[in-house]
Amino acid sequence: MNNLSEVKNVVIAGGGTAGWMAATALAKLIGNNLNITLVESDEISTVGVGEATIPPLLTFHKMLKINEAEFMSSVNATFKLGINFENWKDNDSEYFHSFGTTGRDCWATTFLQFYNRSKKEGYQAKYEEYCLELQAGLNEKFAHLPNSGLKYAYHMDATLYAKFLRKLSEKNGVKRIEGKIEQVNIDEKSGFIKSLTLLSGVTIEGDLFIDCTGFRGVLIEQALHTGYDDWSHWLPCDRAVAVQTESTEEPKPYTRSIAHESGWQWKIPLQNRTGNGLVYCSKYLNDENAEKLLLENVEGKTLKKPLFIKFTPGQRRKHWNKNCVALGLSSGFIEPLESTSIHLIQRGIIRLMQMFPKMGITDSVINEYNYQSEEEIRYIRDFIILHYHVTNRNDSTFWRYCSKMDVPSSLSHRIELFKEHGYVFKAPWDLFAENSWVQVMLGQGLSPQNHHPIADMMSTNEQDMFLNGIKNSIEQTVKSLPTHKQYLDQYCNSK
Ligand code: FAD
Repeated sequence: MNNLSEVKNVVIAGGGTAGWMAATALAKLIGNNLNITLVESDEISTVGVGEATIPPLLTFHKMLKINEAEFMSSVNATFKLGINFENWKDNDSEYFHSFGTTGRDCWATTFLQFYNRSKKEGYQAKYEEYCLELQAGLNEKFAHLPNSGLKYAYHMDATLYAKFLRKLSEKNGVKRIEGKIEQVNIDEKSGFIKSLTLLSGVTIEGDLFIDCTGFRGVLIEQALHTGYDDWSHWLPCDRAVAVQTESTEEPKPYTRSIAHESGWQWKIPLQNRTGNGLVYCSKYLNDENAEKLLLENVEGKTLKKPLFIKFTPGQRRKHWNKNCVALGLSSGFIEPLESTSIHLIQRGIIRLMQMFPKMGITDSVINEYNYQSEEEIRYIRDFIILHYHVTNRNDSTFWRYCSKMDVPSSLSHRIELFKEHGYVFKAPWDLFAENSWVQVMLGQGLSPQNHHPIADMMSTNEQDMFLNGIKNSIEQTVKSLPTHKQYLDQYCNSK
């Protein structure tokens, strides 16, 4: 279906993180000849969670010329160097999935191969000691370092982030309309959306609609009936309960992810409070017990009543259908374990801008957008499933199910390759690079013993220099860094 009329009027439905990220980017980066309208309802609250991010958000902010210190102060942000996974492999185990790289990879293979040789030869250092971000994180240190330095992201208050972006958007000409969308009007012949009618009776016409209405999917699903791929057989958690608490300690520069019997708990430190939540499987844990478990495992006074959220892990069958692009929760939701949702919003926005159908919406652009979106999300899905599936835990029905379930063949292949040879290759649409796959696979309990022949090309002396050089330099750098809290206070006051 081609509709070759010029796209001039863009309507964004919904003003959560997705809506305001889209509005800000479109207005600032390609908006000179577009009319951009965002409609949101004060009656319908945003999802209210989504506080941990990953490093590509820095690129998005650079594109928008956002001043980092100002942003961080506005949203009470802290720096994030990775995620500490507790009790995932076994009860009483932990590992850190850090941003950045571990050791130094070479053209043929990853650092793990050199490390494995060193283990066989009696070296005592742990794999974690070769990663700067990981060591800085565990020691609760942080600073901006020259020459790409520490790779980091943020923890932030999602509600304040939407407000921060709204200001930027409105400065760049986005028109905001408050009101509840009551009706989506569709052209009978083309099936395209013509306009939205609000409860007030106001009608908003558009050429391209961006559905950011969250789980409701008011345009993409309620009006266009696009359909949904349900992945709950691989990702059984389908509920979350979230609660904010007062801070009881200095904010850590990492998220904590703590596995429980039927799910896992997050702790996200902000400058002024902690975000907590329990993600769980409703088949094995009811809401009442989930709330109890969460409240027993938070520190500090609770600041608000717990908020319950239901979701179905999966993706919308088409991320772009007719003249409607779904961004954020309306396009699907894997689950929050690796903080990938805001990133997928960012990727959707960039992709839409790269393929902006200025001279009309055609199948070619819709198909390309959908192909790229689906490829990208499938790799993330596999990476998340990995955390649940590769585990020694068998202390509950939930973990026994996860460890025994069939996983996508793309993932079982990766696990076999790693188990047998220790090899990991980043595929073109993979968000997570080798470092992430290796850290999580090792952390969850896979440990290939062999090493690649290239690791034997070093003499013992060269190996000493190579490994000790990396380790010592990390130790020195970490020692020289201020604490995360010291740096945060000084940096955010410098805006
Ligand atoms: P919402 O925040 O739900 O916003 C929907 C908007 O649509 C609202 O403005 C609402 O008013 C409007 N709306 C809805 N219906 C109508 C209507 N009829 N008329 C007018 N307006 C309407 N992501 C991360 O990256 N990191 C995380 O750590 C993370 N943690 C999460 C934890 C949980 C438990 C969940 C469920 C999600 C998490 N996410 C996380 C995902 C993240 O919260 C979302 O991707 C992000 O907040 C974007 O949400 P949204 O804008 O799509 O939807």
